[in-house]
Parts: sequence; C-alpha cells; structure tokens
Amino acid sequence: MVLVLAFPQMFSVANGLEGDVMNKKGSKNESLRGAVPLSHFFLRQRVQPGDLALDATCGNGLDTLLLAELVGEGGRVWGFDVQPCAISATKALLEREGRSGNVELFETSHERVSEHVPAGLAAAVFNLGYLPGGECSLVTSPETTVSALTQAAALLKKGGLIVISLYTGHEGGPQEAFAVEGWGASLDPREYNVWRSRQLNRPDTAPYLVLVERVR
Ligand code: SAH
Repeated sequence: MVLVLAFPQMFSVANGLEGDVMNKKGSKNESLRGAVPLSHFFLRQRVQPGDLALDATCGNGLDTLLLAELVGEGGRVWGFDVQPCAISATKALLEREGRSGNVELFETSHERVSEHVPAGLAAAVFNLGYLPGGECSLVTSPETTVSALTQAAALLKKGGLIVISLYTGHEGGPQEAFAVEGWGASLDPREYNVWRSRQLNRPDTAPYLVLVERVR
C-alpha cells in the first residue's frame, strides 16, 4: 500500500492501465500500430484551433472527426467522398459527436477540391483504398488521387501537411502507391519535404504513410 502511494505510476503499469491508454483508438496516446494512427500523431502535432483542413476521403468519417476536433469551432473542415454511404456515415458521426457545425461535406470526387476549398490549409488527409466491411466498396484510383494531391499541395499553407495512408494489399493498390510515390518524388524539395514511413517489422504489404510538408 505504501508502495502504491509513493509510486502511482508503477501501480498503473502493474495493473496494465498504461497498455489500455496506449491502445485506445482515437486517443492522444494511441499506439502507432499502423499508418492511420501515425497520420493522427502528425495531425495532432500540427493542426491548431482556428485552422483550415481537408479530408479528401471521408470514408466512415474518423479522420474528418479528428480534424473537426483539432480545428475547433473557430476553424473549418471540408470533406469529400464519392459514395453516398460514406458521406452519410461521416455526417452521422459528426452529428453524434457534436462536431458538424464547422464541417462542409461534398458528395463528389476529390478532383474537385480546388473548386470548393480555399488556400491556407494546415492539413489534408488522404486515406486511400476502400472502406472495408461495407457496401461502400469503391476504391480510390491513381489518376484522381494524384490530381487531388496536386490541388491539395497547392492549397497548403507554409508548414501545412498532407498525410497519405497507402494500401498495397488490394487489387490496384500497388499501382496507386507507385503513382503517389512518383508524384511525391517529383515535388520541388525547396517547396516541399516529402517522407515515406514504413514499418520494418511488418510485411511489405502493410499500409504505410507518405507525408508532405509545405516549406514555403
Ligand atoms: N482503406 C481505408 C479506408 C479508405 S476509405 C481503411 O482501411 O480504413 C477511401 C474512401 O475514398 C472511400 O470511402 C471511397 O468512397 C473514397 N473515394 C474513392 N474515390 C474517391 C474520389 N475520387 N473522391 C473522393 N473520395 C473517393
């Protein structure tokens, strides 16, 4: 008992509480077990209250929700998805969490980002591939993804980030990853820092992250 009072942190580790905190999905201390948690780690670092942000692939809306929370009521988020089921899932999630007020959703291709979104983005999220487990099985495609990435890169403010989660395990995935990497490699290093983050202790097919930071 004396030990517990003197070293509360030891007590929590012994009870496995620390592990729970690390694994809680969507939490600040979420374990970096995959590309999406790693993208959230970077977004939490960079996105501030009052910022502007884009979710180019809403899916079930988890990234949209994180962006809405980070920018707060003084900021603004734009979300795109071509599938009605994804837009309705995102809308429902935002409403449930009381975060729909500063989010504008578009049921259209992210190729049309620059028609709707102004310059000055602190962040843009691209979670590629398809939505697992639902009827929303449409997959992102290299041409539209690269077009939207080019527009998002031009809309970033200095210090703004694009986080791209890439999946190579499905049909067409390797081609899309190749196109995204080719696009990233072509960016002028005086204007953009471009990173690729992969897990060394997972198979080559594990999802990975490409990160783009606007320098000037
Ligand atoms: N692979 C991720 C989920 C990706 S969801 C995971 O495992 O969690 C990708 C989303 O992109 C889908 O909801 C799909 O409808 C959407 N999408 C596909 N093409 C698009 C386009 N051209 N514009 C906007 N969204 C698109």
